[in-house]
Amino acid sequence: MAEKIIMMADARAPALAVPDTLETPTGLLADALGRPLHDLRISVTDRCNFRCVYCMPKEVFDKDYAYLPHAALLNFEEIARVARLFVAHGVEKIRLTGGEPLLRKNLERLVEQLRAIETPSGRPLDLTLTTNGSLLARKAQMLKDAGLDRVTVSLDAIDDAVFKRMNDVDFAVADVLAGIDAAHAAGLGPIKVNMVVKGGMNDDQILPMARHFKGTPAILRFIEYMDVGASNGWNMTEVVPSGEVVRRISAEMPLEPIGANYAGETAQRWRYVDGGGEVGMISSVTQAFCHDCSRIRLSTEGKLYTCLFATHGHDLRELLRAGRTDEEMQTAIARLWRARDDRYSETRTVNTAGLSLRAESAQKIEMSYIGG
Ligand code: SAM
Ligand code: SF4
Ligand code: SF4
Repeated sequence: MAEKIIMMADARAPALAVPDTLETPTGLLADALGRPLHDLRISVTDRCNFRCVYCMPKEVFDKDYAYLPHAALLNFEEIARVARLFVAHGVEKIRLTGGEPLLRKNLERLVEQLRAIETPSGRPLDLTLTTNGSLLARKAQMLKDAGLDRVTVSLDAIDDAVFKRMNDVDFAVADVLAGIDAAHAAGLGPIKVNMVVKGGMNDDQILPMARHFKGTPAILRFIEYMDVGASNGWNMTEVVPSGEVVRRISAEMPLEPIGANYAGETAQRWRYVDGGGEVGMISSVTQAFCHDCSRIRLSTEGKLYTCLFATHGHDLRELLRAGRTDEEMQTAIARLWRARDDRYSETRTVNTAGLSLRAESAQKIEMSYIGG
């Protein structure tokens, strides 16, 4: 049973320091390990209508849970301003996430504001969203009309009973599938479907999920269960390595590896030998991809995290609300990125090396707070 953790917001976030000498963004920032800054993930809410057992277990995220008050949240103008600062620094891809991002009221207004951002190269921003799919059937067309390019939908099982055990709020598979269909009809493709595999909980769904999505336009991706946050009581024995997932699928439907679309792609790509399409493996635990991680995360309340496993964020909201100029904030961001040397998953892989270990989790931030 997970321990009760009360901290959701990150109280340990110092304001970002603004250096005396200001600089203009070049779009060519590199961190301490030479990694560029290309990808911004924005969490728009810390709330969710699901209670996935590996993310927001009911015992922790109950009616007494202290979610962020509305005034603490960045408003859409603040989010769009931050996004513009990052685009000037070289960000080409923005993903909206949460909690459940479609719970944020009028999210399509934010999508419109983000769509209007011009990149230095003139190339359009890649604008995507990760959702549990529960509200997608209703909102897909609106999101497309506002300028969203694509969606990723999380679905952990195709069997209703297993899915309901995973989401823990009795939500039916058919409603998520209706959301995927609506997204497809609206042109929000190629749609990716993410399945977190938790050993002993839904690994019997690997083959049924593969069979269901084979030959459809959706690309199914299997995610290794990660030791994010402090609530899920992660244990290495519950991780099903991607190599095992490939082996199980291949035994029935042979797969062959294919090359990455771009450097820094999180999923390893495989395709069915018979032409039935493609699947992806996100091996965050067994084959860390920190070496080309170009992602930064903005929390719902305006804190920046240079790694999913960071123990504290850097407060940008304070600068926003103190009336700092774009140049001041861009200089502060540049300094933060240059100092970045995070490579948690690589060091965790070395530490655990296949052993059965409980993660050192006490200080880590929740996935539902920072987004995936
Ligand atoms: N609520 C939305 C959803 O579920 O798609 C967006 C936020 S959710 C935190 C983003 C992604 O993180 C989901 O695909 C979810 O399955 C994944 N996730 C959450 N906890 C995880 C964990 N411990 N290990 C691996 N993936 C996890
Ligand atoms: Fe909600 Fe997504 Fe976390 Fe599930 S994974 S509890 S849908 S935020
Ligand atoms: Fe990037 Fe941190 Fe994940 Fe490594 S552990 S891939 S640095 S977010």
